[in-house]
This record gives sequence, C-alpha cells and structure tokens, in this order.
Amino acid sequence: MSVARLVSDPARPTISFELYPPRSPAAAEQLLRTVDALAGCGPDFFSVTYGASGSTRSTSRDLVRHVLTSTPVPVVAHLTCVGASRAEVIGTVRDYLDVGVRSFLALRGDPPAGQPDWQPHPDGVARACDLVELLQVVDRCHRATSPDRPVDEGPLSIAVAAFPAAPPVQRGAGDVEVLLAKQRAGADFAITQVFYEAHDYTRHVAAARAAGVTIPLLPGIIPMTDPGRLLRLQGLTGVAVPRALLARLEAAAEHGPAAVHAEGIRAGAVLARRVLDAGAPGLHVYTFNTHHAALDLLEGAHLGGGAVPAPDLASGPWVTASHSTTLRQAQH
Ligand code: FAD
Repeated sequence: MSVARLVSDPARPTISFELYPPRSPAAAEQLLRTVDALAGCGPDFFSVTYGASGSTRSTSRDLVRHVLTSTPVPVVAHLTCVGASRAEVIGTVRDYLDVGVRSFLALRGDPPAGQPDWQPHPDGVARACDLVELLQVVDRCHRATSPDRPVDEGPLSIAVAAFPAAPPVQRGAGDVEVLLAKQRAGADFAITQVFYEAHDYTRHVAAARAAGVTIPLLPGIIPMTDPGRLLRLQGLTGVAVPRALLARLEAAAEHGPAAVHAEGIRAGAVLARRVLDAGAPGLHVYTFNTHHAALDLLEGAHLGGGAVPAPDLASGPWVTASHSTTLRQAQH
C-alpha cells in the first residue's frame, strides 16, 4: 500500500520516524544502529531530510538508498527547491525515482541565513505547491522513458509541510490558504512542524477543514528530552518552547539526566496521546537520529507495546518499560 493510502486509512494511526543525514563518520555509525532499531519496530515509513544549503544533499540520497535497500520500510524523501535551478530539481527527483523512491515531502526550503542580498534562482521552482506539480510531471515523464518500471506502480505519494504553531511573521499570512494550494496541486497529506500544545494542532486542523483542506494532517512530535535542543529549534522555527515545560525540565535536572529524560518523554507522550485522541491520523516522530527517546515516547503514548503506565496528565515523571513488542502489533 502506498504511504498516502496508509496515512489516509482510518483503521489505525500510522507511526513514522524522521531521520537526518549524518554529519560525521561517528554519527553515521550511530545512525545505522538507529535505523535498525526503528525499522525492527515495523513503522509505516521513514522520512529523510534534505539540506537546503547543499551541504547534505548527497548524504540525504545515500541515507535514502541505505534505508530502502536494508529495510522493508518505505521512505518519504524530503525535497527542497530553494536555490536550485529547475533542471537540478528535476535531476534530483529522477535520481530518487531511479532508486525506487515513491514518496516525497515537497518543500520550498529556507533561503540561506545571513545573506540579505540572496536571490532565488532565476530559473527555479519558487514554492512548495509548484514542486508538488513538478514531481507529478517528472514521474510521468520518467515512467514514459523507463520501460523497466513496474506497470502496476501507482501514483507518487506527496506530502507537504503544515505549520500549526509558527508565528505569522515566520510563515506570512494565509497559512491555511497555502495548505489549500498545496492540496489543489496534488498533495496527499501534510506533516506538521513542531508544536507543544495539542490545541495548536486541533485549531490548525479546524481552520484547515473550514477552508476546504481535506488531506490528513500528520502531527510531527518531538521527544522533549533535551532543553538545549528545544531552544535551538525555537531559534530555527520561531515556535516558542512553553516556559512551564522548560521549568519542569530544569527541576528534573536536579535529579540527574534520567529524570530529565523521563520528564521530556512524559511531556511528548501526553501531547502525542492528546492529538491522537483528537483524531490525528498518526504520529511522525522527530528522532534526532536516536531511537531510545523516540521509542520511549511511543510507549508512553501507548503505541509501543509493553506494560507501560498511562501518562499521568497531572504530574510526575514516570519510567518507561522496555521496547518489547512491535509498533504494528501494538497499534492493532
Ligand atoms: P512554501 O509552502 O512554498 O511557503 C514558502 C512561503 O511562500 C511562505 O511564506 C508562504 O506563505 C508563501 N507561499 C507559498 N505558496 C503560496 C501561495 N500559493 N500563495 C501565496 N503565498 C504562498 N527544510 C529543509 O531545508 N530540509 C528539510 O528536509 C525540511 N524538512 C521539513 C519537514 C517538515 C515537516 C517541515 C514542517 C519543515 C521542513 N523544512 C525543511 C523547513 C521548510 O523547508 C521551511 O519551513 C520553509 O521555510 C517553508 O517551506 P514550505 O514547504 O512551507 O514552503
């Protein structure tokens, strides 16, 4: 079944993990272990990020190839178009199609930081919705010129980004209208940027539905176990980390790293459970290339199997059990 159909299937929530191209040989070693551990849990798909600055584009492709060849899990390849010519974007799409990628997350990407004179490529693809259309055109042409491709191969699965909590200054006006434009261009589902409050997600979904957006909006959830990382993410995305969360993590730090981990997992699990209970089609977990926190979070949200206590919505860190059963078993 295609990734788009899995995410649209109301029978059960999907579970997926976001991976990042490694930046050093040591990070690559760690990533291979993470891929093995996460793949062993039977997720619905991995997604692999794509560097906007050009520094990680080939490592993204290598990681996509590795996951496709060493695991049975489908890959959603992130693809940005900012700063590239149309021909370069088409070349990258064809590369991915050649190695068997059938699912993409179509993004504009961010212009390079600290370059006020930066101009978009004169012959580039300006917006994510244009990339959604281009992906479909390239796939049709590629099919016509690649006789070896399976005849029963269905259409691409195309995801786009959604922003439930980013401040308007970061996103510009009309975020929901932009999402609608992405849907009209052919997007099958959206994955959200980080958010910390369930009502940010539910309000965004309600506004999107009111505007005519019908595609599934898959919440992106982070294990909130590293306050420094949360603050760096705040700098990158403009999504403020709630002070109460930071205070709880700070208080937990007095009891050591395990207490910080437990508190961060509890916060992520509570958020995950709340959005699922509100009807979210699944969870897309930002792994930061480590599996323990991602799997602890899912167990905390009752998606990882094992005898894990329900997240205590009122107070108190709790300890997760081992990751014993597969996610897929636990979801059924
Ligand atoms: P767009 O939808 O093109 O929006 C860009 C701007 O154009 C916005 O201001 C929007 O308001 C405006 N706009 C777009 N369409 C229209 C329209 N039809 N009418 C009017 N205005 C319009 N970045 C990376 O570099 N690599 C990654 O791998 C990556 N992965 C990500 C994964 C997720 C889940 C998310 C949420 C973000 C990710 N990003 C990644 C960051 C993303 O590329 C940036 O947030 C980027 O600034 C916006 O991308 P977009 O796809 O929303 O662009």
